[in-house]
Amino acid sequence: MATSTQRNSDQAAATEAHGSPKPCPNCHETRSRAIYSVDSIPAHSVLLMPTQDAATKYPRGDMRLSFCEACGFLANSAFDVTLNEYSPDYEETQHFSARFNRFADELVADLVERFGMRNKRVLEIGCGKAEFLRRLCEAGDNFGIGVDPSIRPERFSAEARSKMQFVSELYSEEHSDLKADVILCRHTLEHIQPTREFLDVVRRSIGDRRDVQVCFELPDVRIVLEETRFWDVYYEHCSYFSAGSLARLFREASFDVVDLWRAYDDQYLLLVAEPTERPTQAALPIEDDLAEMSALASAFETHSQKQIAHWRDTIGTFHREGRKPVLWGAGSKCVAFLTTAGLEHEVEVVVDINPYKAGKFLPATGHPVISPEQLKGYEPGVVVVMNSIYLDEVQKQLDQLGIDAEVVGT
Ligand SMILES: [Zn+2]
Repeated sequence: MATSTQRNSDQAAATEAHGSPKPCPNCHETRSRAIYSVDSIPAHSVLLMPTQDAATKYPRGDMRLSFCEACGFLANSAFDVTLNEYSPDYEETQHFSARFNRFADELVADLVERFGMRNKRVLEIGCGKAEFLRRLCEAGDNFGIGVDPSIRPERFSAEARSKMQFVSELYSEEHSDLKADVILCRHTLEHIQPTREFLDVVRRSIGDRRDVQVCFELPDVRIVLEETRFWDVYYEHCSYFSAGSLARLFREASFDVVDLWRAYDDQYLLLVAEPTERPTQAALPIEDDLAEMSALASAFETHSQKQIAHWRDTIGTFHREGRKPVLWGAGSKCVAFLTTAGLEHEVEVVVDINPYKAGKFLPATGHPVISPEQLKGYEPGVVVVMNSIYLDEVQKQLDQLGIDAEVVGT
């Protein structure tokens, strides 16, 4: 297994100082400062590999996280879009978790009841496996149009497919003829770097209509910075938003932000907006976060290397004590955790409840992914849960399997 090397942020800042600063992809100002840097991390982290050899040879890129003082946006200034590879092998779905499904059902009910998304044409940009779109179509008697290269229509029943249409491509200006009453975009904007250009494409597709609702959901970077969650900073996510930077982007692109709130233990941001003729002014208290975000970016810069060292030592100690630590959740957080902390043999396997992941290998590190049932024979002493929101769910599953291990949250 290969490792990545970390450079401290002083070096990153020095490098940035010698080059000319890039304009912010969100607001086009050149007032960004480097706060965090990791070399040679896998370009994708949820694209699972069929063999260990293919996994360790997976393309890599660098992370140079910079904070824009003008709009509060964070971006990987070293991001190279040509390393992207979104295909049906991209296994991002979280819908095998009861906890996640409860959240999805509550959000669907909210969108149908509170925002009246009923009997509408719903276009979802970056719909993934379209599981959420299917739920929204069923609950609100909507018709769904899902656009995503990783779509797998064969996973749906004929009845579900009768309420949906799929376009197996990356969304672009060419899809502006796909007219809809609701434009949904969940966990996609953070994978796009020219965020302003992308939102302009969405706005142009709406044209003169005013009765269109736009709903975006994405990770909130605030908690990532606040709790120094370095495992939430990885190559696939080239763009990082707070409530304020997200609202500023929408307002500049001629939308009114109708509502903006946090969900999923403050991990996600949800925004509902409507098109306007011209840019709009900030109106919600949650948008006023620029000074707070600047302070949090500095705190992350100060604490990140200490946090990385803490986890490297903790997992290393578990391993040396013969406690066979395993990570639970073979997603992006897990790949970032292992590659950033430089962990290899200290962890032998990672576990995931998504049956499509078992038998595959993590990109870059080559760790094999096993199912919870397979974990029984492995007899781990410690299970590190990559997202603490699943702690109860994981403990329950371990109890059912009769696995007596210490459960640790990140
Ligand atoms: Zn900016």
